Amino acid sequence: KELLKFSHISQCMDLIVKRDYHSLCEKQPIGKMLFYLFCRSSPALQNYISLLDALVKRLIPWLCPQSPQCIDAVEKHEKSCIQALVDDPASDIFKECRKDLHKQLSGGPFLQYQESMFFDRFLQWKKLERQTITKRTFRQYRQLGKGGFGEVWACQVRATGKMYACKKLQKTQVKKRRGETMALNEKQILEKVNSRFVVSLAYAYETKNTLCMVLTIMNGGDLRFHIYNIGPAGLRKEQVQFYAAEVCCGLRHLHQKGIVYRDLKPENILLDDNGHIRISDLGLAVELREGSLVRGRVGTMGYMAPEVIDDQYYGMSPDWWGLGCLVYEMTAGRPPFRERGDNAKKEEMERRIRAGQIEYSPKSFNTQTIDLCRSLLTRDPEQRLGCQPSGAADVQSHAFFNTVNFRMLEAGLVVPPFKPDPKLVYCSDVQDIDEFSTVKGVSLDCADDHFYSKFNTGSVCVNWQNEMIETGCFLELNLFGPRGSRSPDLDW
Ligand code: ADP
Ligand code: MG
Ligand code: MG
Repeated sequence: KELLKFSHISQCMDLIVKRDYHSLCEKQPIGKMLFYLFCRSSPALQNYISLLDALVKRLIPWLCPQSPQCIDAVEKHEKSCIQALVDDPASDIFKECRKDLHKQLSGGPFLQYQESMFFDRFLQWKKLERQTITKRTFRQYRQLGKGGFGEVWACQVRATGKMYACKKLQKTQVKKRRGETMALNEKQILEKVNSRFVVSLAYAYETKNTLCMVLTIMNGGDLRFHIYNIGPAGLRKEQVQFYAAEVCCGLRHLHQKGIVYRDLKPENILLDDNGHIRISDLGLAVELREGSLVRGRVGTMGYMAPEVIDDQYYGMSPDWWGLGCLVYEMTAGRPPFRERGDNAKKEEMERRIRAGQIEYSPKSFNTQTIDLCRSLLTRDPEQRLGCQPSGAADVQSHAFFNTVNFRMLEAGLVVPPFKPDPKLVYCSDVQDIDEFSTVKGVSLDCADDHFYSKFNTGSVCVNWQNEMIETGCFLELNLFGPRGSRSPDLDW
């Protein structure tokens, strides 16, 4: 905790923090906590905050006009909320209500907050968040894997104890193979996503020889390993459904942000300790400008969609094709366009993807799974499931998923059908992972520094703040006053 010392407030005043209510009081986890504490401390605002609390917990006494706790700003929503709850008990009936409440809070209360000690404390946390990140910020443990530009290692933040995976890119490797744009692209896309179904980036920093991305650690191995290395090839129906559903939520999130992932395959889907999955390796992902299309023959042979191999323009469609390949492979224990032990060349693979017959052995596939795969593996992207304006929602409503509660899944409340054994290491022996050859004839110069400085941006705001809260550091350090009175109930 020595590493987490607040600076005096006078040293935090130069921090440029855009005074935006949504970012400061809703999006940033520590900001939200402190604004909450501020409201709790003010008699006039206590009911507001209790209502926000209750909205999360789905209680309604603050809505009813008869109630002494009623808030007039939201009173008018009472009837529609109750009716909506009758119509669909799982729906988010308080959306409008919450909007109105935040509208009120973002006025006067938000201005008062900025004059309070709670906001000073927020700036002190921001100062800590913006500390320079170096190799010394972490302890390094075992190697987890190897990528194209360097190794991936397990690491731990010294100050908080939180474990991460550190993906290192050797600067010389990147330079030799002109990977600058790709590396920066991956880092910048990771910064924008925030989903429990996609690995998140917590820190980006550099050392003398490497660029490092510090990511959610996924200790349970990848889906490729689980499909082929445990028992007979393929997975149980419940597993296929669960992983497909989580991947679908991950794709939905990426697509909402205008990002097409383009590299869906079992290797890139990683399991955590509990058996939840996340999409990883966003090196090929690309962000499309509103409604625009992109071209590019990228992906992994065997998983590329017909429109990709034919070099046409596309939007999000290759990812739904990819999901079809994934569901097929998890079910059949082999990818859709390759037999076991078959070493077809590129041209033959492309022919099969464009026109080959896809076989569905009745031994592995039931009718719903066949129908889902057929709909996703539709060659014409215009006709493919998921590619209509309603997008991911159509996929989620397919009969294959009819026993999945996507709302519960999105909230992380569904128990995975398989939990990795914490005593096992689900990857190839690190002894078998080749060393990187030293790169000769490449020297780094100041022209590279511009790229490094764009990469080297330190902590990623929301993830850093979540780390502080999750590891208990926020509660432990967020004391006020000389007697260090602790913040009251903080289960918001
Ligand atoms: P590349 O883009 O160079 O292929 P990857 O992101 O695929 O690099 O990472 C290489 C390997 O490192 C993966 O195949 C996996 O074994 C391991 N790995 C990557 N990210 C993580 C993570 N977040 N947690 C655990 N292991 C990981
Ligand atoms: Mg990879
Ligand atoms: Mg990659």
